[in-house]
Amino acid sequence: MTYDQVTVPEDGEKISLADDGSLEVPDSPIIPIIYGDGVGSDVGPAAQQVLEAAAEATGREINWMRVYAGESAREKYDENLPDETVEAIKEHRVAIKGPLTTPVGAGFRSLNVGLRKLLDLYANVRPTYHLDGVPSPVKSPEQMDMVTFRENTEDVYSGIEWEAGTDEVEKVREFVEDEMDQTNIIHNGPVGIGIKPITEFGTKRLVRRAIDYALEHGRDSVTLIHKGNIMKYTEGQFRDWGYEVAKEEYGDEVITEDTLWEERDGEAPDGAVVVNDRIADNMLQQILTRTDEYDVLATMNLNGDYISDACGAQIGGLGIAPGANFGDGRLLAEPVHGSAPKYEGQDKVNPTAMILSGRMMLEYLGWDDAADLVRNAIEETISSGKVTYDLERQLEDAEKLATSEYADEVVNNIEKLS
Ligand code: NAP
Repeated sequence: MTYDQVTVPEDGEKISLADDGSLEVPDSPIIPIIYGDGVGSDVGPAAQQVLEAAAEATGREINWMRVYAGESAREKYDENLPDETVEAIKEHRVAIKGPLTTPVGAGFRSLNVGLRKLLDLYANVRPTYHLDGVPSPVKSPEQMDMVTFRENTEDVYSGIEWEAGTDEVEKVREFVEDEMDQTNIIHNGPVGIGIKPITEFGTKRLVRRAIDYALEHGRDSVTLIHKGNIMKYTEGQFRDWGYEVAKEEYGDEVITEDTLWEERDGEAPDGAVVVNDRIADNMLQQILTRTDEYDVLATMNLNGDYISDACGAQIGGLGIAPGANFGDGRLLAEPVHGSAPKYEGQDKVNPTAMILSGRMMLEYLGWDDAADLVRNAIEETISSGKVTYDLERQLEDAEKLATSEYADEVVNNIEKLS
């Protein structure tokens, strides 16, 4: 495809898909990058520098292709999410982005949601693991090693809602009250109404992805998180469809918690993944009180956002927590944190979350050696007390570095360790 405002790197090659659906990754791939809004212009270049160094140290090269969304796109294209950006990510399959600002209450819809939906990136995956040297509010942060699989296209991300006082909401109110016989709740003056769709298709492909991950990575369990006691036909159904996948598609590789206790006295067969479920509010407690008992988590959109931030708080917070959105044969890496506008352009915030999101991208490319190097270099940097403001305020005798200085230090350590 030809681009209007985007420069395609001349030397790079495109990542493609083999007939069996696996990725074919050249040693010098083209990777689109969106810096994003707010602190994106600080953490984006920092991550680029570190990922480039790790690729180079392992005999490869990343050819960045800068694409635009949010503020930078408004400047270039006079729109928030240009078609070119979406097409560039589709065409090149693997990309990385920084945070994008979303106005609250009014204004345009979330560009993050738009991108994930347009690219059908249905699994938002957020690993939370502890890095050596990172301060934490809990006593044993090393017990935290969970990976949240959060459904990325349905639930609150469907964006189906109507504003109070509009003709539309009145039509929906009328329908719900008159046709569906629900008169008890929404007759008290102005009301906003939203719809929470949870489909069998969306649930099953997400849970399948979580179970596949657990099997491939030797994880012990997959926990389905829901509020099915209250939302029986949405969140409860998520749980039931999740168990259906586990029981019908995996044979002996997967065992449910009920069967485990009813038939095997709690002893899981070697290599099998145990599938269980927990109610969301209880789960927020469990991740603190029984941290080492949980492993892979699979849940709907809103629960996934809450749970993964709560997990992230135990391992250093938003400056550390990485993420990536997976579709079939496609990935868009992005940190969990937002654009933190108050720190924009100050060369201050922690780029680790964005760098570790890039690390997920390296793993997806099959560059595990480069991914390990990135993690080791970050641990080396933080353990030596060289950190950004967010960690420095929690550590004694640490040296506070700017975003760019921290990235330089990680690159130095990559060179030292390789
Ligand atoms: P936020 O941007 O994540 O920032 C909240 C706080 O988290 C910051 O004030 C800071 O805390 C800490 N933080 C975030 N990133 C950090 C980093 N890299 N290093 C160190 N500390 C970091 O959340 P928000 O203020 O709720 O959201 C701001 C905007 O971002 C909103 O428009 C929201 O919609 C958007 N957003 C976008 C995404 C995305 O693009 N995927 C995700 C979430 C939010 P302290 O000030 O306490 O140090």
